Amino acid sequence: MLLVHPHLGNGILGWYPRRLILNRFAMSEPSTTPQFHLEARPASGALTRTGGFLTGFTHTLQPYIGCRFGCDYCYVQGLSVHHFQRNGRAWGDYVYPRTGIAEKLSAELARLERRGQLAQTAIFMSSTTDPYQGVERRWALTRACLEALTVCPPGLLVVQTRSPLVARDFDLLGRLGERCWLSFTVETDNDDVRRQLTPNCPAVAQRFDTLRQAMDAEIQVQAAVSPCLPFSTVDQFGALLIAHSHRVVVDTYASGDGNLGRRTAKTAIPAAYAALDLGDWRSEEQARSLYDWLHERIGDRAGWSQDGFTTLARQVTGDATCG
Ligand code: SF4
Repeated sequence: MLLVHPHLGNGILGWYPRRLILNRFAMSEPSTTPQFHLEARPASGALTRTGGFLTGFTHTLQPYIGCRFGCDYCYVQGLSVHHFQRNGRAWGDYVYPRTGIAEKLSAELARLERRGQLAQTAIFMSSTTDPYQGVERRWALTRACLEALTVCPPGLLVVQTRSPLVARDFDLLGRLGERCWLSFTVETDNDDVRRQLTPNCPAVAQRFDTLRQAMDAEIQVQAAVSPCLPFSTVDQFGALLIAHSHRVVVDTYASGDGNLGRRTAKTAIPAAYAALDLGDWRSEEQARSLYDWLHERIGDRAGWSQDGFTTLARQVTGDATCG
């Protein structure tokens, strides 16, 4: 949401390892692929108080540390969580399942309920990982958290992912009803662009198929075009988005990184756009055209950047936070 991203908060991008910038898009430096590292790390707690980009949400929830999707534009690789946990590894090359997190979550939700704060609690899962990356198949920590959330439901849960694996848990999302939104990332309808910029992520067709399944299962669906990558045409992509979601948020590197694109400038993205001849990565023209087109047709169900992402939470919490 970086603030160029669904796993929000590009606002905190910051520093990027030079090796990552050079890895795939510069010929002058050898590319390395460290071995994937998976290691259980017992969770000391579950819910984290929010701030910054996620204004309106009271808490975030991260079943994993690290993310196997390893998107080049991901803001998390610039955060302290990555620098403390990486142990020499690149972003995308390690995942630490936070074992016991569901039990911690149950206790914390019960405490919020006792304090009379549960109805004003808005949880974003997740802001620094994808809760449905591949390891979730085996570890099922996200599913265990959802089970806890159905027992003690908060005012709002937003599940942020780009993975078709989320369909496994539609039974639990459905049980949360109007308290739950699935926010699903589709940055483009062009699978060549997806393959070039986020090669480890699920194909575009799979993602639209998952959105369709979610709509059929009567789950509330937000399509997150975040960050907006080069796409076909406004008419074509816009029509797909409207047909596959209840609301749409459009975001860009420049609006979403919290520093007018300066943080994104330190990532692999500028080199990637140049190498792939994708135009000016700073330009918001195509994204703005898409947003305007959507807004004309679905009104306030189309959102832009931070305001678009936090609209749902503000409906539950106002600007208040609770703990
Ligand atoms: S899917 Fe993972 S790597 Fe990609 S933006 Fe989200 S948290 Fe970052």
